[in-house]
Amino acid sequence: MKALKKIRHRKMLAQEGRCYYCGLPMWDEANGYSLLAAGRKGRPPRALQCTAEHLLPRSEGGADTSENIVAACLFCNNARHRRKQPPSPEIYRMHVQRRMAAGRWLAAYLPGTGQGGSR
Ligand SMILES: [Zn+2]
Repeated sequence: MKALKKIRHRKMLAQEGRCYYCGLPMWDEANGYSLLAAGRKGRPPRALQCTAEHLLPRSEGGADTSENIVAACLFCNNARHRRKQPPSPEIYRMHVQRRMAAGRWLAAYLPGTGQGGSR
């Protein structure tokens, strides 16, 4: 678990703090709130907590290796693996990006949309 955390942290830095799928700024224990978009107050949203995302899911034999891990926000990570048949990272990323463009993914956290709204 320690090693996984390290990989996740490295990936987060490599991705400049942004989620692999939605591109929104994430946070983790180490970086606290510093990577959050400016202007946010209070606790960072749980949805945007940085998690280690297995490109090939663990359930399919995916390993805790640098090649198989990217940093993704909790929301994107959960939403992918909630599906019975998790889509490939490429397909899922396109799906998320399309929803983002339509303002229908994590809408509450999109810049310029203010608070509230659905996600
Ligand atoms: Zn995300």
